[in-house]
Amino acid sequence: MNRTDIFFLGTGAAEPDAGRDNTAVALRSSAGAVLLDCPGSPMHKLARMNIPPETLGCVYISHGHPDHIYGLPSLLHSLEPSGSSPEIILPEGLLPMARKLLELFGLEADFIPASTGMRILDMKMDFFKTRHTADSHGIIINVNGKKIVFTSDTGPIPEAYSVFRGAEMLIHDCLAPSRFSAECEALDKTHTSSLALGKIAAEASVKKLIPAHFSGRFDFSTEEIKTEIRRNFSGKVLIPQDLTALSL
Ligand SMILES: [Zn+2]
Ligand SMILES: [Zn+2]
Repeated sequence: MNRTDIFFLGTGAAEPDAGRDNTAVALRSSAGAVLLDCPGSPMHKLARMNIPPETLGCVYISHGHPDHIYGLPSLLHSLEPSGSSPEIILPEGLLPMARKLLELFGLEADFIPASTGMRILDMKMDFFKTRHTADSHGIIINVNGKKIVFTSDTGPIPEAYSVFRGAEMLIHDCLAPSRFSAECEALDKTHTSSLALGKIAAEASVKKLIPAHFSGRFDFSTEEIKTEIRRNFSGKVLIPQDLTALSL
């Protein structure tokens, strides 16, 4: 069985709303599962997606903003009775902060600094610098012969388009439509608008574009997101809801 499942545990930005919690993604192959970013209620979300927590081989933390890391102590604490302890992969610069966060709760973990070509379960992992914080990195996972890219939070990164090229799935920051750029200084600097994202997907010839990390602060519809992407990208676009599951 060479199937890969992708689960969207959350699809919202730092300010969740009634429909979307903070963004996190789980990938599962026949060898086990990995969790990409770790906001709130991770065990509950994994349970809702029928992912047994003891199959979690690793957790990747993309950067140190609370909506990407604050669930880590909760996850490790919840896993204690089962004795399972996934490896925590993160950009090296984040190590002191992550250690401090766990120390507050008397918790420990196996931290592994992200490094090119590392292998976890049956997945090969590579990383690239994103435009967000000093330490922020996205991840490229090659599994079952397919490339899946998760940028987490980022503005457009032209130097990474070669990394995105040919991806089966590009899961990319898409905070809001471009009309909010006057109110939101971060748009197209440290986060990406749907207009810019369409251009990125077209330039990188991705097979399927999955926008995520939608702002709960601004009022827009997923239709508006899709329409703006379509101005530049004619390939497949899927806008996930929380708890959307896909297979490759
Ligand atoms: Zn975020
Ligand atoms: Zn962030």
